Amino acid sequence: MAKKYVYLFREGKASMRDLLGGKGANLAEMTQIGLPVPPGFTITTEACNEYYSIGENVPEGTWEQVWPALTEVEASTGKLFGDKKNPLLVSVRSGAKFSMPGMMDTVLNLGLNDDTVEALAANTQNERFAWDCYRRFIQMFGDVVLEVEHYVFEQILEIAKEKQGVRYDSELSPESLKWMVSEYKKKIQRHTGKPFPMDPRVQLELAVLAVFRSWNNDRANVYRRINNIPHDIGTAVNVQSMVFGNMGSDSGTGVAFTRNPSTGESALYGEYLMNAQGEDVVAGIRTPNPIATLAQENLDIYNQFVDISKRLESHYRDMQDIEFTIERGKLYMLQTRNGKRTASAAIRVAVELFHEGVITKEEAIMRIEPEQLEHLLHRRMDSDAKLQVLAKGLPASPGAASGRIVFSAEEAERLGDAGEKVILIRTETTPDDIRGILAAQGILTSRGGMTSHAAVVSRHMGKPAVCGCDALKIDYGQGLVVIEGVEYSQGTVLSIDGSTGRVIKGEVMMVDPELSEEFKEFLGWADEIARLKVMANADTPTEASNARGYGAVGIGLTRTEHMFMDPARIPIVQAMILAQTLEEREDALAKLLPMQEEDFYGILKAMQGLSVTIRLLDPPLHEFLPHSEELIVEITKLKITQKDPVNLHEKEALLRKVRALSELNPMLGHRGCRLGVSFPEITVMQARAIFQASARLLKEGLDIHPEVMIPLTMGKEEFIMMRKLVDDTAQDVMKEQAIQINYKVGTMIEVPRAALLADEIGKVADFFSFGTNDLTQMTMGLSRDDAQGKFLPVYLEKNLMKTDPFVVLDRDGVGKLIGIGVNLGRSTNPDLHLGICGEHGGEPNSVEFCHIVGLDYVSCSPFRVPIARLAAAQAVVKNKDQSK
Ligand code: ADP
Ligand code: MG
Ligand code: MG
Repeated sequence: MAKKYVYLFREGKASMRDLLGGKGANLAEMTQIGLPVPPGFTITTEACNEYYSIGENVPEGTWEQVWPALTEVEASTGKLFGDKKNPLLVSVRSGAKFSMPGMMDTVLNLGLNDDTVEALAANTQNERFAWDCYRRFIQMFGDVVLEVEHYVFEQILEIAKEKQGVRYDSELSPESLKWMVSEYKKKIQRHTGKPFPMDPRVQLELAVLAVFRSWNNDRANVYRRINNIPHDIGTAVNVQSMVFGNMGSDSGTGVAFTRNPSTGESALYGEYLMNAQGEDVVAGIRTPNPIATLAQENLDIYNQFVDISKRLESHYRDMQDIEFTIERGKLYMLQTRNGKRTASAAIRVAVELFHEGVITKEEAIMRIEPEQLEHLLHRRMDSDAKLQVLAKGLPASPGAASGRIVFSAEEAERLGDAGEKVILIRTETTPDDIRGILAAQGILTSRGGMTSHAAVVSRHMGKPAVCGCDALKIDYGQGLVVIEGVEYSQGTVLSIDGSTGRVIKGEVMMVDPELSEEFKEFLGWADEIARLKVMANADTPTEASNARGYGAVGIGLTRTEHMFMDPARIPIVQAMILAQTLEEREDALAKLLPMQEEDFYGILKAMQGLSVTIRLLDPPLHEFLPHSEELIVEITKLKITQKDPVNLHEKEALLRKVRALSELNPMLGHRGCRLGVSFPEITVMQARAIFQASARLLKEGLDIHPEVMIPLTMGKEEFIMMRKLVDDTAQDVMKEQAIQINYKVGTMIEVPRAALLADEIGKVADFFSFGTNDLTQMTMGLSRDDAQGKFLPVYLEKNLMKTDPFVVLDRDGVGKLIGIGVNLGRSTNPDLHLGICGEHGGEPNSVEFCHIVGLDYVSCSPFRVPIARLAAAQAVVKNKDQSK
């Protein structure tokens, strides 16, 4: 026996979404609970999938099931398909498991032909209506099924209106409509070489095939890609008897949400049009009325609708998006689904549904995509603003900004200090641009990906950024950028939207982020449910207090290198690096000590009561020196002018040092604790700064918890050496200051060897923090900066990887090493505190993994803290069964 490919609405239910698609499953569910749904049936997604697997052909047995189902529909409506007296008309509607609004078109009024149109006219005693249905049908069928270009029909419509001298479609006379029908048919004959099909059964067969075909059309493919909808789930086809909203002034059609989809307010929200059909409401032919006025128009219908909306919402336990039609004063439901909504509406709806006793806290937590929260935490463009979009890049850091464009960090800083709002445009940014980035309202780059320097730094600072916008042709020399052939010189005002990647001309109105009471309440629930703690990565007191504001319960990573980059300090840092003797180096370090002490004082103070993990200097020293190319240029100039031999001499010495320090592979070079092994005095200076700051704060009566983190450890021996430097310094300071400091010393686990020897290291460390950026690079043997811009996209495209491992933690490989590290570490030290820092710490899928593998905390950028809090709670709910 053939598989069941066809389900009458009364045979299905909501839980059959996979098979019937969302639209079909919900039509069935509404039928089951007794709502007024025009009868019909659904052809399954399975039939669609088989259509493709057997080479674009409907599977055996499909039509044999369609015709009896149609007979059932005829019986329940009392009409007959193709009948010359009382013809049944149907709509043919696509509907996949996930709603793909407007991606695949629906055909209405199917079953009309030269005979049935006369019957429709006679039965309704409305010739105009019948011919209007007919011309709409031919137009939709011609466009969607026969693939005749839309404009062909539009042209005829325009001519008809012109000939008759009217403005609106609804004013067309029966004669005009008849003329249109005959013109449409001629066009179809000309474009397809065949007459328009008069047999309703042929019409239905062709329409069903067209829906299956439309699953693979361009916009559907693009929509699925953007929304991460699988390509292999197929669409169902719904065949449903027609009801008519265009039968006169007692008929109409509309769309409504049970709550406001942009604010979440609990009030019906929607629009309707009287005497209109199907897509007229969305198509903007006439301006629809707000749903509230339906109460004045027809109180009875309005009340019925309010009733049904309430029923649907409590039945589905979520906000619904409903399509309805009124035919001669009778209400019909044509669709319901969980309504799409903004992030703030999503939170308000979830919180209110909990308070209304409809859903539990855990369900509320699961209703919001963690990434959605990001939209709430940044300034964004006013949704009513009219935008002139010039180009699109990657949405690298959310939020929006307007400002005068500048092309160098110095200029950004100069204008920024003068109180100007600027957008910094660079091909890509480097750590040298930090101050420019800080001074700018937003960052725009023509190269680089989602984890490029500009992107990472901007997200970290919570600054909007659009990256990798290759439409930009930057001319630094002339101080201008060319976009689509138009020049924009320095000082021109542009805007960027880092949430969508848009680059916009001129200034745009912004709205501030609103951290509503609901939002706080909601995240409070997340904290109740979550097991993982969420900390933040912060390098300054401001970032630290931001992080606190977003609910971080500590700092999991303070990087000290940014502190060394400060322009006031760079000469001292360089002096330290260039020092010929230990004495010279200690001299430079002595100057850095009080500065570092102030840095740590500020952060520890901002985080009083909570722990602060400070990582010792990590990058290779040449990052603090000028580039050799720049030096060579300067030296050459000095040689030519011969004016400043002293300077020339210094520059030459600097160049020699730069060359000496240059490495073939800096990532695997002289960095991390390897610096401390070579130059213990650097480690001692940093440790002293941490403990002196701590001593001061303790004396001020504050409760502080410093933790010192050793980077890039390969094994126990190195760690013991580093730890001794730190412990000894702590002892010295405690003695000098006569005060007890409670501190911890732990390590990053970012070299695979360290994970494999975690039992050894665990014995002597207080905590591990998995540095998943480096750990990913070293486990996979991928250099991030080389891979992301170049061959990683190919891997993704060829499906060798599902996601970028620098964005979503690679559970299989890197995750396995983390698991080994966790288990070995705990086996020798049950008290070991375990967490991760780095970009993965704020990415929901990776957070879930951290939960599963048994970490104690994740640490991420301050602005991602709420996202991680929600993801941590969702991880508990998702993995509930496994954990018991
Ligand atoms: P989409 O998925 O693009 O929303 P739909 O299949 O929901 O497409 O249909 C498009 C429009 O046609 C909607 O306004 C819908 O209400 C209307 N429509 C669909 N089927 C019928 C029907 N049987 N009777 C009247 N209107 C219908
Ligand atoms: Mg559709
Ligand atoms: Mg619809």
